[in-house]
Amino acid sequence: MLDAGIQLEPERARLVQALSQTTPDQWPPKDVQRLKEGMDPAVSGIPQKHIFGSDYPYRDAVQHLGLACDGVGLEASLALGGFSTVWGASMLPCREGDVTDWPVSVPQLAPHYQAVLELTGLSAERDALADLFPLYLDAPGHLEASRQAQAMLRAMDRHRAGLRKAKIHHGHARVAIKAARGPQEPGCVYCGMCMYGCPYGYIYSSEQTLAQLKRAGDFRYQPDVIVRAVQESADGVRISGYHRLTREPLEFEAERVYLAGGVIATTGILLRSLQAYDRPVPIKDSQYFLLPVALAKRIPNVRHEALHALSQLYLEILDPKVSPYTVHLQVYTYNDLIGRTVSGAMGPLAKWLPFLARELEGRLLLIQGFIHSAESSRIVATLRKNPADGKDTLLLQAEANPTAKTVVRRVVRKLLGQARRLGVVPLPMLLQMGKPGRSFHSGGSFPMRANPGAFETDLCGRPSGWRRIHAVDASILPSIPATTITLTVMANAHRIGWDSGVTSD
Ligand SMILES: Cc1cc2nc3c(=O)[nH]c(=O)nc-3n(C[C@H](O)[C@H](O)[C@H](O)COP(=O)(O)OP(=O)(O)OC[C@H]3O[C@@H](n4cnc5c(N)ncnc54)[C@H](O)[C@@H]3O)c2cc1C
Repeated sequence: MLDAGIQLEPERARLVQALSQTTPDQWPPKDVQRLKEGMDPAVSGIPQKHIFGSDYPYRDAVQHLGLACDGVGLEASLALGGFSTVWGASMLPCREGDVTDWPVSVPQLAPHYQAVLELTGLSAERDALADLFPLYLDAPGHLEASRQAQAMLRAMDRHRAGLRKAKIHHGHARVAIKAARGPQEPGCVYCGMCMYGCPYGYIYSSEQTLAQLKRAGDFRYQPDVIVRAVQESADGVRISGYHRLTREPLEFEAERVYLAGGVIATTGILLRSLQAYDRPVPIKDSQYFLLPVALAKRIPNVRHEALHALSQLYLEILDPKVSPYTVHLQVYTYNDLIGRTVSGAMGPLAKWLPFLARELEGRLLLIQGFIHSAESSRIVATLRKNPADGKDTLLLQAEANPTAKTVVRRVVRKLLGQARRLGVVPLPMLLQMGKPGRSFHSGGSFPMRANPGAFETDLCGRPSGWRRIHAVDASILPSIPATTITLTVMANAHRIGWDSGVTSD
């Protein structure tokens, strides 16, 4: 495995290691503060999510991948573990109705969903959402919902029939957080640190799988490589790149190559390998929005509650009057960042009117919303060569789709109309639309097709005409459903690995 492989700064890694050896009540507050650095919640604008106080998952990508971005929220990662080091760990499979343009069906992905979930682990409940989205796992972990989530859930359960009529389905979130299963199998301790990174490593990251692969042997990991291009011949593939630190040129030979650099990096590598300069390719995106909502009843003392801070609940809107596709909503209840946002918004008043701060904290929840890429803005990627120095730039330009705003407005209207049944009142004046790509649920620059043409791939992610080079990340998804991306990217990659390992042509 060739990887850029940037890692957390050693000093922060040492702090994380130290915290992981003790219980949260023993953590020195100054160490915790250090691991919370860099994420300044703002009332306007969505802050970049850091991990253990570091921005290393995003570091140096613009420079090494030669990116020039215009109005785009999507970023690339050169980290060991990529963005799985910093992700929200939400994992829901696709619905067949959202992937009608794919040459691969959900039943074909089913065994691979199962294999992936066995690898990552999943905490989830066998609730009504399972009728629409199978769990693909016999014994998921169980996480306690926060008291705010329980309050909302109680309201929704009471009005289940009405919500169904309104075509809103609800249930517990499904997150790749390891839940405890008795004293022998420790898991989440509800320390509330999820947004800053789990010192115990209970949130799945592909770093963990990499460590397992290294231990298993028959696998070699080579960090500090920046792959630039791949070239196929009759009996192999030549990979060219350079050393990330010394810039020394590097070349490798392989029988077969699987490209999984994330959509931006893989798109750049493929365009460069195809010498496809000045040929724009669209990257599809699932439009992201953030909608604060207020709980009907305040939950006291949330600041001191033991809870996990990733998504607690899901709402799925399957209403053709809103969208022909599933709209996916993730509910976040109190976490330290919400508390800091409230204090920041109140300014000095937070000190003088502490009861008002408590009132807001006790009620304020956040809904992260996603819509299908067919109704979202997109990003156009174009590889350019600078004639002066021969260097490449991958230009990423946002291309707005006005339908995205219309759909989001319909979603907000729908939620307002169902406020009583949902147990929360949406606050549309605080709605924020993410820039194209801000969901990080983006891909589709080289879509899989049954009969691929130029700039398309076959069912094994091979660009038209190639036999030994497989793109296996989001670049090859024909469209991006709203219902989270990574589980499906992993399942599809697993399918390709499986198929290409079995059939070796
Ligand atoms: C803040 C945040 C929250 C998210 N939350 C969720 C969520 O809750 N649910 C969900 O489904 N998705 C979520 N995502 C998206 C999810 O993280 C990505 O879908 C996932 O990480 C993609 O995995 P990947 O391996 O394809 O690419 P990446 O995670 O981008 O990893 C790319 C890998 O390739 C390497 N690489 C890249 N370019 C090169 C190169 N040229 N040479 C050598 N190596 C290279 C990098 O070092 C890295 O190891 C979130 C993303 C972010 C940023």
